[in-house]
Amino acid sequence: MFVDSHNHMDFYGKNLKKALDIIRKDDIRTLGCSMNLESYIFTKKISEENENVIPCFGIHPWEAHKNCGRLDFFDDYIKECKVLGEIGLDYYWVLERERYPKMDRVFEYFLDRARRYDKITNIHTKGAEQKILEYIKRYKLRTPIIHWYSGDMDVLEELLKCGCFFTISVDIGYSDLTDEIVDILPLDRILTETDGPNSLEWVNKRYGYPGEVKNIVRKIAHIKGIQYEEARDIISSNFTGLKL
Ligand SMILES: [Zn+2]
Repeated sequence: MFVDSHNHMDFYGKNLKKALDIIRKDDIRTLGCSMNLESYIFTKKISEENENVIPCFGIHPWEAHKNCGRLDFFDDYIKECKVLGEIGLDYYWVLERERYPKMDRVFEYFLDRARRYDKITNIHTKGAEQKILEYIKRYKLRTPIIHWYSGDMDVLEELLKCGCFFTISVDIGYSDLTDEIVDILPLDRILTETDGPNSLEWVNKRYGYPGEVKNIVRKIAHIKGIQYEEARDIISSNFTGLKL
């Protein structure tokens, strides 16, 4: 078994069938994150035919300004899914500062529901790591999954104390920061992710199928100085331990 704890099934387009075949054949437990409600409904439908795909409902921070007017409408979708994601804040890629209050409002709505319904969260933190840490402390969230962390190490240490897990993504071996993060993280808090097919293209121009998680496991094993199989099994048991 392998783990892809942050993927987007609606990003594969015409390659979706191939991606799903890989997920089935390689037994990759996949958290299918959503950008918005339409994206969640799409992923939920896929999950009905592929039990390795676990649909997660969230409003991505890039979509928050379009959705902040209809938040209460989302409660039923939140209740039915096991993980809320992709949610979070992005003060790095989102340059329109007037969107930040809406982004905060949407994120806080999901945090409130996560606490109320005892849901695991899948959180985007880009450029907002310190603020996310404060939110996680305030809402006392259960085992948040921090997606593709790239903030500073002091905040990372604090997030670890809050019980967070961290997904290591496709830039391992290409980013000194990611390699350093893997070095620092305890093995029992590490998960793997691909973040859709285009993230690897962003890193090295190759289209990223879900099987890329095997390369990530191999590189984690190398940095940690352990065998590939041991890294694979620890990451699998970290995922199983989330008790989705
Ligand atoms: Zn994502």
